[in-house]
Amino acid sequence: MKFNPEYSTKESLLELYQKPLLELVFEAATIHRKYHNPREVQMSSLLSIKTGGCPEDCGYCPQAARYHTDINTHKIMDVEEVLEQAKNAKANGSSRLCMGAAWREVRDNKDFDKVVEMVQGVNDMDMEVCCTLGMLSENQAKRLKNAGLFAYNHNLDSSKEFYKDVISTREYEQRLDTIENARSAGISVCSGGIIGMGETEEDRIGLLMSYMEMENPPESIPINALVAVEGTPLEDQKPIEQWELIRMVATTRIAFPESVVRLSAGRTKMNMEAQALCFMAGAGSIFAGDKLLTTPNPEFNEDQEMLSILGLLPKASFSDAPQPETKPDPILIERKRQEETREKELKDAKETKNKFEPRNIKSVDSL
Ligand code: SF4
Repeated sequence: MKFNPEYSTKESLLELYQKPLLELVFEAATIHRKYHNPREVQMSSLLSIKTGGCPEDCGYCPQAARYHTDINTHKIMDVEEVLEQAKNAKANGSSRLCMGAAWREVRDNKDFDKVVEMVQGVNDMDMEVCCTLGMLSENQAKRLKNAGLFAYNHNLDSSKEFYKDVISTREYEQRLDTIENARSAGISVCSGGIIGMGETEEDRIGLLMSYMEMENPPESIPINALVAVEGTPLEDQKPIEQWELIRMVATTRIAFPESVVRLSAGRTKMNMEAQALCFMAGAGSIFAGDKLLTTPNPEFNEDQEMLSILGLLPKASFSDAPQPETKPDPILIERKRQEETREKELKDAKETKNKFEPRNIKSVDSL
């Protein structure tokens, strides 16, 4: 079931969202049990492989170059470092790694070559690999798919109407195009939103309606609560109530019974009881690790303790879809060949120079 036909209009979905909370949670829990194993929660890790300096103006984001925020910006990480971090995340129980780069769009350059290599390496560790790199063309999506990318994340953030109050540097339609490019390349889609940015309940429902209008709604829908960061335009936004996040998780679960609903940013403000209600209401994944790109998140062991208290089990990778194959990348192969040729030429030139350099010539003084 792509979406729940009982709630396919804005009115019916809003009515669902506004139901008495426990009835809503009960309905969501019933659906969750029908389509998913309610004892399993996927632990995912999020790694910022390139932080800050983004030319976009997303009002919630500390990585936008135009805002003065206290983040440690860095260029793209080395492949080896990323693979090391992926290994640690896996050892700590994560079965999915999401790599994020603060780019407006992917460019066909050496940085993208590195991402392709990272995807290959993480997929070969038998972890689900997800990337969030900004706008993506069809060819770039195909290249990532070929490297073994499991999912591409590109959030719609909010309703089409509210979106322009938060972001002006790219259109809602451009986001839809990127999602379509990932989808056409055969990559699973991860796309969700942020609540607490000043939107209305209708906007929250509007976000879900945008997914209902898709031929295939996302397989994964992250629900975030705004983490208001000093220096961003939304810095003074009042934190949302935990109940609102529970409502949004439950409504999303009911609307898209087969998708994985991910309880994402904003968990540091939730107590364990509220998170338990989110799991009950259908959240099937959390992000583990003390950072969510640049914003705080509970520590690995805190989460492990929570799962153990609640009797929940970490979900294995590729439980929902088969692992993509890691195929050789012709561009990487060609680049490596060129590098090897250059190295050999340098070595040969050095040896030739040494051969013709006069040796053991006695200095004039010693004659
Ligand atoms: S959310 Fe992404 S696109 Fe928007 S400013 Fe942040 S890094 Fe850039």
